[in-house]
Amino acid sequence: MELNQGVLLLNTTYEPLTIISAKRAFKLLFSKKAHPIEYTNFFAYTVRSKIKIPSVIQIAYFIKKPYTKPKFSKKAVFIRDNYQCQYCGTFTTKPTIDHVLPRSKGGKTTWQNVVTACPSCNNKKSNKTLKEANLKLIREPKEPNYIVYTTFTHGVKRMETWKKYFEPATRPNSPVPVLLS
Ligand SMILES: [Zn+2]
Repeated sequence: MELNQGVLLLNTTYEPLTIISAKRAFKLLFSKKAHPIEYTNFFAYTVRSKIKIPSVIQIAYFIKKPYTKPKFSKKAVFIRDNYQCQYCGTFTTKPTIDHVLPRSKGGKTTWQNVVTACPSCNNKKSNKTLKEANLKLIREPKEPNYIVYTTFTHGVKRMETWKKYFEPATRPNSPVPVLLS
C-alpha cells in the first residue's frame, strides 16, 4: 500500500464522486475540505508522525455533479457481470454476449437487455425468450454505476470498504431501507 492507492471521495450525500490518490485525499483532509470515513490498515509517514491512510473520505460541501453515463461495450458488459454466465452462474473464459429479449423480437442492445452468457447457455437461449428457453437470469442486468464502471475499465483496485457506497440501498443515509436477510 502506497500513496498512490485510490481513495473513494464521497459527496455529502454519501454518493461516490470519484476516486482520487491518497496524496490528494490528504491534501483535502489537511485543508479541512473533507473528512475521513473509513481507513485502510496502512500508514503514511511524515517526519513527525505516522498517519493512517483512509480508504473513503467525504467532501465537506455538497458537489453538484452532472450525471455521467457509463459507456456501453461488450467488454464492459463482461466486466459488469464479472465474466459470469448470467444464466447458469458459471465463470467463463469464453464469454459471449446474449440479448435477453432477442434482437429478432425487438430486443435492444442496452445495459438492461444484454448479459454475459457461456457458450452453452447462449446456444440454448439462441433466439428464444427467457420463457421459451426455460432459462432464468441470476441477476437483473442494470446500467453500472459510473464510478464502478470507471474503476473497472481503468483497472483501479477496488477496495472492500467502497462497496456499500456504490449501491443506493447500502449507503449510510440511504432513503431506501437496507434489506437484511
Ligand atoms: Zn451458462
